[in-house]
Amino acid sequence: MTALREAGLRPMQARDAVKVWMQAYHQDGLDGQAALSRVPPVQALRLAPLLLDDTTLVAVEEVVAEDHTRRLLWQTADKLVIESVVIPADNGQRVTLCVSSQVGCGRRCAFCETGRLGLVRNLGVDEIVAQFRQANALWSRVRGSMPAISNVVFMGMGEPMDNLDNVVDAIAVLTHDWTYGLSARKISVSTVGVAQKFAEFFARCPANLALSLNAPDDARRSQLMPVNQRVPIADLKAALLAHLPRGRSVLVEYVLFAGLNDAPADADLLRAWLEGLPARLNLIPANPGPDPLLRSPSSEVVWTFQKRLLDAGVRVMVRYPHGRDVGGACGQLAGAHRQKRGHVEEAHV
Ligand code: SAH
Repeated sequence: MTALREAGLRPMQARDAVKVWMQAYHQDGLDGQAALSRVPPVQALRLAPLLLDDTTLVAVEEVVAEDHTRRLLWQTADKLVIESVVIPADNGQRVTLCVSSQVGCGRRCAFCETGRLGLVRNLGVDEIVAQFRQANALWSRVRGSMPAISNVVFMGMGEPMDNLDNVVDAIAVLTHDWTYGLSARKISVSTVGVAQKFAEFFARCPANLALSLNAPDDARRSQLMPVNQRVPIADLKAALLAHLPRGRSVLVEYVLFAGLNDAPADADLLRAWLEGLPARLNLIPANPGPDPLLRSPSSEVVWTFQKRLLDAGVRVMVRYPHGRDVGGACGQLAGAHRQKRGHVEEAHV
């Protein structure tokens, strides 16, 4: 809008032009040009050069799992491949979109497929928003009596804190009245734990924070997640206590690996770390990743671990993988690397 004002429009004219275009593009699903035809000609002329490009993402593959999870593969304008996943809740009450924030990821967690790619580049605001816009359009054609997408999780490819400006701006677009009016409280941003960004995140963004903890002590966390060599778990907790806004809680994610972090003593260490932190805990049985030795415990071990925490008063849920049979579950998103290898290799030459 600033740009429109600089181009000579009065503030109200600029606002109206953007509003009409945004509603036509995001709410009515028109393409950019068609949406522009709804804007009065003088404003449209000034607006046109500033608009998002319709060719932002091209859908190249859609795989539907038995549990209705849909893994969507998109190609960017520069021929890279990213993924989003549409996840209907088991009870049919809500539908969540898992989006990517980067092509690849530079954090190299031992258990994560995306980490194998390394970081290729950050996604732009338009590319993050386009995942929602296009998945939403696609879902509304096939959802039948299932609800529309209401929740968004940044748990796809990439580390959102390494692309914070674009993630924050994309959330501002998705929650705006002129677009989808999503509730910020239904958006979660999942991070490996870049503690020095927490203050900025909470100051700029009303969405929830999710922290991938994954281990109950520094030795094991550093082995699984290189970030821990710089930010030990005591610092993570201190940063959360210092910056979590009053009345809000953090979602702590803990992937369970057989024989590595699933012992009763580990549940006790985890409980001690959670002590005093406003938190909910999600236990995630590991999905097959790059290291064949990192496997899920049996469901009995998962239940014993959960029960020990429940008995100690921790708010803990087990998050069973969705879309595992189509490689759409947490940590399995390697997009191009696994299914469309050619595209990513093109990007590296
Ligand atoms: N970089 C961010 C977001 C992407 S990962 C983060 O680390 O949080 C999203 C979630 O998937 C994280 O909680 C991560 O720990 C989990 N995950 C990664 N690989 C996994 C695997 N092989 N099995 C189960 N969960 C996995």
